[in-house]
Amino acid sequence: MDVVKGNQVEQIEELSKNNIIVTSVDKVLNYARAHSFWPVTFGLACCAIEMMAAGGARFDISRFGYEVFRPSPRQSDLMIVAGTITKKMAPLVQRVYDQMAEPRYVVAMGSCAISGGPFVDSYNVVPGADTFLPVDVYVPGCPPRPEALIYGLLQLRQKVINPNVVRMREHG
Ligand code: SF4
Repeated sequence: MDVVKGNQVEQIEELSKNNIIVTSVDKVLNYARAHSFWPVTFGLACCAIEMMAAGGARFDISRFGYEVFRPSPRQSDLMIVAGTITKKMAPLVQRVYDQMAEPRYVVAMGSCAISGGPFVDSYNVVPGADTFLPVDVYVPGCPPRPEALIYGLLQLRQKVINPNVVRMREHG
């Protein structure tokens, strides 16, 4: 093995300051994921209208790389629970979540998805998505405006980039 001489060490140190980034594969992958969520296409009630508006030209979440709504959970890594979850619908929501690619994320959009909202006392409404899914971000409102959803997605971005942020409840 060649002996690295003193001036070569200095050259390497100089190079590392300007041209070399030391990181892990996980950090690179999380950075990429955080800038290109692929939401699964589905809505449950009125909040879904605001979610659709967020994807339209006026609010344009494609500015952040989140516009590729996928019709198949197999191609999605983000579930935006937008609307009221009825007890009849909950098993189907669970099934869609289970079919999504990992790592996968969940945003509870609106007071119905957060806690049952105005229907919390109903005989047939689930009091929040986090009763059966690991929710990452809660976006309050009835309904939240598209800007609020975008803000929530930006919070999720920070959470994915920073692995030290603890998820409230893991699935399973
Ligand atoms: S939070 Fe309000 S707007 Fe959203 S689904 Fe429930 S009732 Fe509709």
